[in-house]
Amino acid sequence: MRIPREFLEEARRRCTPQEECVALLFGRDDAVAKWRWVRNLAGSPVAFRIDPEEMYRAITEAEEEGLELLAIFHTHPGPPTPSSVDLKYMRLWPVVWIISSTFSWKTTAWRLEKTLREVQITLQ
Ligand SMILES: [Zn+2]
Repeated sequence: MRIPREFLEEARRRCTPQEECVALLFGRDDAVAKWRWVRNLAGSPVAFRIDPEEMYRAITEAEEEGLELLAIFHTHPGPPTPSSVDLKYMRLWPVVWIISSTFSWKTTAWRLEKTLREVQITLQ
């Protein structure tokens, strides 16, 4: 998956370990073209919940521009690997899941098919 370097720079500026940060990434094929930060309704350092209305609007707007939802980004105050809750939601939203650690800023990407597999990230 190709991700603009600028996206991760923005994440480092706005995300803290105090609250999981969430963004929706849109694009074509495997290249992210734009993104939208969304509110974390859970307001928690270890969980996130997206307002379904907000998500629906963001996806509809992107589709009008010919873009599709490619990935869901969120942060962890620890290692950037999917939690059991993440795995549950990855089944509902079978896009790429990108996770950044707000401590190390290590960033990983995952896709849940039959099994969980890591997706290569290329910054551009
Ligand atoms: Zn998570």
